[in-house]
Amino acid sequence: MSNSADNPIASNLQHVQGRISNALEQAQRLPNTAQLLAVSKTKPASALQQAFQAGQRAFGENYLQEALEKQLALTDLNIEWHFIGPIQSNKTRAIAENFDWVHSVEREKIARRLSEQRPAHLPPINVCLQVNLDNEATKSGISLTELPAMLESVAQLPNICVRGLMAIPAKREGFDEQRTALEPLSAALSELREQYPTLDTLSMGMSADLEAAISAGATYVRIGTDIFGARD
Ligand SMILES: *Cc1c(COP(=O)(O)O)cnc(C)c1O
Repeated sequence: MSNSADNPIASNLQHVQGRISNALEQAQRLPNTAQLLAVSKTKPASALQQAFQAGQRAFGENYLQEALEKQLALTDLNIEWHFIGPIQSNKTRAIAENFDWVHSVEREKIARRLSEQRPAHLPPINVCLQVNLDNEATKSGISLTELPAMLESVAQLPNICVRGLMAIPAKREGFDEQRTALEPLSAALSELREQYPTLDTLSMGMSADLEAAISAGATYVRIGTDIFGARD
């Protein structure tokens, strides 16, 4: 562990962990029931290394090529890699080979390829299905109504472990508005869980809506800016 005075990323992490703990307490949830995914897109390997030195283990990346370069530079570190960006078919093999989690699966075909291409020596890849909560045409994700059918086919794939749901809602200002926007994802997970017991993950909440997301039940918050600073 490095001292936060000489590592701004360490002190940012400490601050974000504090926000997570407070939000859990406010929501009357148990400690440590929401994990921090450090979103490191566009940031250099040295920034991830600093976060790792401060105790962070799970990192989220959006762009495959960039992520693979950082993985190569950081092979010595025992990092848990999460892919959180849009996925084209020709990228599935490298994702299946190099990531522990994928939060952004929105097509059955992509899930099938990830399962087929997952190397036999690795455990099943953890997958969240991305839901488009606001039904915005420009945003990724399936609708809540398409979710049960998609889940039914993805849950049968042998080398995938379906863990839950992910969303990136449209920007909203206040806590209540943010929370209300996220509640349908939480409700959908609770309902689907009765049928699919491996579902234990709600991936929602970014720098601007972390508290609302935890209040609505997030188990993974994906934080970039508040750990690594603004992106260009
Ligand atoms: C960039 C990104 C984040 C982090 O957003 P911040 O506002 O920087 O915390 C989280 N999730 C996804 C899918 C992202 O692309």
